[in-house]
Amino acid sequence: MECRIGCAACCIVISISSPIPGMPNGKPAGVPCANLTADKRCGLFGKPERPAVCGSLPPSLDMCGTTNEEAYAILSALEQATRPRGSAASSHQPITPPAHYQDIGETSI
Ligand code: SF4
Ligand code: SF4
Repeated sequence: MECRIGCAACCIVISISSPIPGMPNGKPAGVPCANLTADKRCGLFGKPERPAVCGSLPPSLDMCGTTNEEAYAILSALEQATRPRGSAASSHQPITPPAHYQDIGETSI
């Protein structure tokens, strides 16, 4: 499937433990990646500094669902299921997009 521009769920919801340009300690869950552009594309797409993990997550129905809201719900559940036990961040609160990301459109990273 094609990525939906304006979704950006995988660039916001999930945590990334490896350093990312602009985020040397990695990206916490629920925090938009520093490399997201204003139109919610990856500013590092095609560049060598783009983290390998990002290229290892191709769009799929299992991860992205059929709507951006579904992608947020799927990835939120996945993030919570894979958090270490006892983690300070472990809660069962769903991870929702920051307010300025809630004008969900239909585009690709
Ligand atoms: S459609 Fe999938 S790959 Fe594209 S931004 Fe959303 S979750 Fe990520
Ligand atoms: S794909 Fe780009 S914007 Fe998304 S998390 Fe990776 S570096 Fe950040």
